[in-house]
Amino acid sequence: MADDAIRCDACPVLCYIKPGRTGSCDRYGNHDGQLVRLDPHVVLDRAMSRGDSLVPFLQSDREWDGSIVKQPETFITAIGAGTTYPDYKPAPFIISSEVEGVDMVTVVTEGIFSYCGVKVKIDTDRHLGPECNLVRAKGEPVGHVTTSEYGSQMLSLGGVRHLTGGSRNEGSVTCEVLLNLCNGKPAELEIDDGAKVIVQADKPPIVNGTLEERMRVGCGSATIGMFAKQWFGKIDEVVVVDDHITGVLSEHQAGKMLEIPPTGIKMKGRRSTPGRYFKVADPGTAWGGTNITDPLSILAPFDAKVAWRGLRLLMVSTTGEHYSYYELDEAMKPRETELPPDLRSSVERIKENCEPALCTVLFMGGAGGSLRAGVTENPVKLTRSVRESLTRVTCGGAPVYVWPGGGITLMVDVSRMPQNAFGYVPTPALVAPIEFTLKLSDYAALGGYTDRVRPVSSMMDEDGHVRVSPRPENPWPFAGGNDRR
Ligand code: SF4
Repeated sequence: MADDAIRCDACPVLCYIKPGRTGSCDRYGNHDGQLVRLDPHVVLDRAMSRGDSLVPFLQSDREWDGSIVKQPETFITAIGAGTTYPDYKPAPFIISSEVEGVDMVTVVTEGIFSYCGVKVKIDTDRHLGPECNLVRAKGEPVGHVTTSEYGSQMLSLGGVRHLTGGSRNEGSVTCEVLLNLCNGKPAELEIDDGAKVIVQADKPPIVNGTLEERMRVGCGSATIGMFAKQWFGKIDEVVVVDDHITGVLSEHQAGKMLEIPPTGIKMKGRRSTPGRYFKVADPGTAWGGTNITDPLSILAPFDAKVAWRGLRLLMVSTTGEHYSYYELDEAMKPRETELPPDLRSSVERIKENCEPALCTVLFMGGAGGSLRAGVTENPVKLTRSVRESLTRVTCGGAPVYVWPGGGITLMVDVSRMPQNAFGYVPTPALVAPIEFTLKLSDYAALGGYTDRVRPVSSMMDEDGHVRVSPRPENPWPFAGGNDRR
């Protein structure tokens, strides 16, 4: 072109990039008239994690060290590998290697995912917002609250509707939130009629400005079951306050087994089974994920025919964060008093059994046309091959869960991937690394681009690769099949 701009054809945006400049996504630039992928291409190297001195790129793969099982020491990830567009072009790297005497091939590409999002698990009892309510960032809807799990609140963020179906700003903000979360950065979210929460993968959530320290030991009923024996003989009644299932020791099966006598306690809420009560209060961010700050507000008056003066009552939340100790006066009214030392340890034990609260971010996406057509001319064969576990799928070398059923819909824990593995394009869509590893013979059978297969050693002289240690918790990508059960 007249101004020496070159066209990037790695995504539908088709940027014209002037010399020394980058395209809209900052992934590609014009370097002396050449279109270059700006981030380094990441190669996992097992020698690095052992602290071995580095040998020239992949040379070690060609020397058998005498061990019975021989697998390559390096794995070519798709991080920084680039994208090919339109769909029919072969993936940027199709690399051959030998694994235990079998010729293998790994097809790597940075996939452009318009159909993608993240599932966020937030370990907290605090009520973040009603299910189905919108989650917003910068005022734009980016997802919704979904079904809560045991001790955790769940958000579903992103997805094609927010990326493409709303305003331009909604799509851009959604893409930004997904990119930040997938790359391990924090995202500030606000839930309609709910809380403000700062979420970051592998870090504790911050709910309405409070750093969450621990997740619950269990529901109120489970907490009674776990600690009943430790309370036996030291206390007459225990109520474990929980937004979902509040437990009452004397009525609970655990209390019955220990022959704890009735106390005449009367609970508000709906009795489910003995010693288990639903809906004792509204959800909130106070005691046990309820909205109560005074635990006595969930009690009706004691039955004066059964209760007795001096009856000892402990009320505690499911994390042990909140607790109060009472004794009944002559009018059978609970009077708060100091928690006796021998009960203090039981509250401490609840806290001790609560795991640290974390946020977990799972990227979820569907491998669509461009991705699959970059692997084979007959994309459905790749889908079938993945389903039959002949093709192993990884993201940046990390194991993925492939959903049963049609298509290649996968989930991966972003914390198990190398840092900054994700990018974006302003269509908007997320760019995520994906690798397909399979036998060379199977690759040929499914119509792969066998004429593009190159040995790993052919990359030795190329610049732009960076070697990183694989994460120790991940299986080596050449070992095993897909996590699909
Ligand atoms: S947005 Fe990025 S990948 Fe797409 S054409 Fe522009 S520079 Fe290339």
